[in-house]
Amino acid sequence: MALHWKILIGLVLGIVVGIGINLFWTESTWEAIGVQEPATFLSATGPERVATETGDGVNAAAGFVAKSARFIRNANDFVGDLFMRLLRFIAVPIVLFSLIAGVASLNDTAKLGRIGGKTIGIYLTTTALAITVGLLLANIIGPGRGFREDVRTTLVESQAASAGEKIARAETRPTPWEVMLDIVPENPFAALAETQMLQVVCASLLVGVGLTLLPREKASPVVVLCESMTEVIIKIVHIVLALAPYAVFALIVPVLSDLGMEVLLNLLKYCVTVVLGLAIMIFIVYPTILRIFTRVPYRHFFWAISPAQLLAFSSSSSGATLPVTMECCEERLGAHDEVGSFVLPLGATINMDGTALYQGVAAVFIAQMYGLGLDVSDQLTIVLTATLASIGTAAVPGVGIIMLVIVLQSVNIPLEGIAVILGVDRILDMCRTMCNVTGDCMVCAVVADTENALEDPEKVRARYEEAQKRLDEYTREQEEFEKAAG
Ligand code: ASP
Repeated sequence: MALHWKILIGLVLGIVVGIGINLFWTESTWEAIGVQEPATFLSATGPERVATETGDGVNAAAGFVAKSARFIRNANDFVGDLFMRLLRFIAVPIVLFSLIAGVASLNDTAKLGRIGGKTIGIYLTTTALAITVGLLLANIIGPGRGFREDVRTTLVESQAASAGEKIARAETRPTPWEVMLDIVPENPFAALAETQMLQVVCASLLVGVGLTLLPREKASPVVVLCESMTEVIIKIVHIVLALAPYAVFALIVPVLSDLGMEVLLNLLKYCVTVVLGLAIMIFIVYPTILRIFTRVPYRHFFWAISPAQLLAFSSSSSGATLPVTMECCEERLGAHDEVGSFVLPLGATINMDGTALYQGVAAVFIAQMYGLGLDVSDQLTIVLTATLASIGTAAVPGVGIIMLVIVLQSVNIPLEGIAVILGVDRILDMCRTMCNVTGDCMVCAVVADTENALEDPEKVRARYEEAQKRLDEYTREQEEFEKAAG
């Protein structure tokens, strides 16, 4: 079975189990087992955990089932975290080695400059386009118009602490000058150790350029080493990908089991607006750009990048998905290494179309909820600040909502509105991360094709399927051999 189907099955099963646990954990279950603080019950360990279980054994059976549900949730949380660690483990080395090898083999610094300019130009354009789609939809649908005041007050009160913490985090942000300065690492080893992706990209580019300036015989041992290390990391990515269907299941269960269904229903119109906007980007805007600028059919594109999309959805992190995104674009889409290893890490860090779209919708939603009008100049300010905010958003879960603070401040929308949308942030984060990763892959295809660095889609697919067939045959022979021997 093809990998993306396996991942999809893992995802669907995870959704079913997660929702099952969620439905089970109702107020009456908590009462029956005498748990006063459900959140602490779910996450507590040791003596704290005993203290949360103050039940008098009224309903031992319910207690047993609740504890089993907790075990399933926490075990999945653990497996998901383990998988994410594995992904993060490969993200830095794959960028470092493949970018150095790519730039050195390109041997053309002028071409490198052109690729860089093109990439950043398309990234900024698609991001501005995404916010425009978000703003248009939010103005037409009006998710915040007529929002019930009592619901708003309850949500603001219940989420006040968590929203306050997010607002405080946004307040300590660096200035744009500091952000730009920070791209150049003072210490490349610290950049590697601290996973500063833009700094790693900058350091790898410099080393790659340095290698192209050296005489061939001096440069080639390093280039060969980097090429071999890239192959090693790609092998690890294959192992990780084989685990992906199970990991996706594990990642999704805790998210859905903890999701407040009531909050989701209250904010349904808002969620639908965001998801509709993301769908327009993924299914209309990107295919149109691909059609205009490349010869890649959208079906092929979708087939090639679907494992990365599904993983982005499950993990809510374009940074952690990066190794898989690179594998999909280079092996399945056919983009050459020097393009993929430059465009994709850059995209994972600065290109966040989904996040920008979401920030646009959220700003209009909160303004509508408070009965504030946003005129054309306010909306243009949102386009500008959301573009910058999405660039500054780190590629990890839940940062989009922190950067939303900047967008709200720019047009004087009350920051406490963030508390209202906090409850559904994780689920929207999953959807916007999927859009972010799709956007990165689309730009990779455009840059590669316009630079003559994209293999013929038919050929890539035929090669991939041939390799898959050979692998299947090998596995079958192996099984037959073991049967005969056993
Ligand atoms: N989770 C998103 C990403 O990694 C960023 C965000 O919108 O919070 O792409």
